[in-house]
Amino acid sequence: MAKEINKELYKEIQLKNELLVEGVSFEPDIFQHASLGDKVSEQVNAMFNSDKEAHVDNEFPACIISPKGHYRIQLRWIRKSPYKLNYEDGRYLIRKGHEIILDPVVFSKRPDYYNKKTSDGAWMRTVAQDNGHGVIFIPYSNECALKDSGKDCLFCNINATRALYAEKECIAWKTADQIAETVKECYGDGYEHLTISGGFIPERREVDYYVDVAESITETLGKDSFNGTACVGAPLDFSVFEKYKEAGFSTIATNLEIWDEGLFDLICPGKKDFCGGRQNWLDALDEELRVFGKHKVRSAFVAGIEPKPSLLEGVQHLIEKGVIALPNQWYVNVGSALEGCRTPEPEWHWDVYEKTVGWYRKNGVTWDEFRNATAASSTVLHDLFRLYEDIPLMA
Ligand code: SF4
Repeated sequence: MAKEINKELYKEIQLKNELLVEGVSFEPDIFQHASLGDKVSEQVNAMFNSDKEAHVDNEFPACIISPKGHYRIQLRWIRKSPYKLNYEDGRYLIRKGHEIILDPVVFSKRPDYYNKKTSDGAWMRTVAQDNGHGVIFIPYSNECALKDSGKDCLFCNINATRALYAEKECIAWKTADQIAETVKECYGDGYEHLTISGGFIPERREVDYYVDVAESITETLGKDSFNGTACVGAPLDFSVFEKYKEAGFSTIATNLEIWDEGLFDLICPGKKDFCGGRQNWLDALDEELRVFGKHKVRSAFVAGIEPKPSLLEGVQHLIEKGVIALPNQWYVNVGSALEGCRTPEPEWHWDVYEKTVGWYRKNGVTWDEFRNATAASSTVLHDLFRLYEDIPLMA
């Protein structure tokens, strides 16, 4: 008989889903008592900002921790959210109406490496962000060349994030050596998976950059591989995939974002015009599967823009082929072309997560394969999959 899942933890993940979809409202200067940048991890706006409005003059915590301490919940600021975060009697708490939802609110701990610099003076926190449970995210660039043609993806705020936060937070392009030094520091401190990502580079020279970075990491670590994912756009020349693999990447990600063909063209005009169209993205995933292998290829969707049946068709189709399809919740962020819209209700997203996790399990995706092909380790999908598979959390 299948083991029953822990219902309390299941509810906790549902609350997390609510707080991610609805966001949290608060006064932007409320965090003066939170030990931000000391004991508590601050937001680092290195690629995408997740809030509905800009807050250049106020730093926010990166995550809050769920009531039983198991789950990280990215803090997303939405002024109209029914979930209100207050500072009362010396502690933070969240209410919905008169009901207390979380008391006290605990914020995620700041990793030690956030206070360190590379040998050429870059803050390591700007090079790699702590994505929880042993995973770091490395945005090598903080801009996307698609903006030059006005064809950035409509949900994306990479260029707006750069304009708002880059100068203040000292965020710039990273060199291969900065990345390698930071990875060495993190891997020595318990981290064990990384993703390298960024916006489109002019003339699509990603492969040269990624190979340089991989070589620098392997040399610095003194190892042939480093459990890393290269997140890349679909190339026109598929021979590059062998180069990513030879350089030491163990997994690869090519994010389709939208399954429906008409909507893909509309929402991702640059991905359509500069990457051979949607069919080339699908062909690229097939070739990645051939080169890297089953469950070593990931493709993320922005869940909530297209109708659910279409999204689910794409997710199921890719999972059955051996791709880790990832329907990430669309959060409407400041500066994207879709600013002002809203994502579907929490129940809409929950249904997508339940079905997706069911397909992972039916198709034999293991936890390690899932974790090693994805850029975070603490999305609702991760938590739900972990719960169903009875996988313990890392610290
Ligand atoms: S390709 Fe699209 S999603 Fe990726 S950084 Fe550029 S605009 Fe954003």
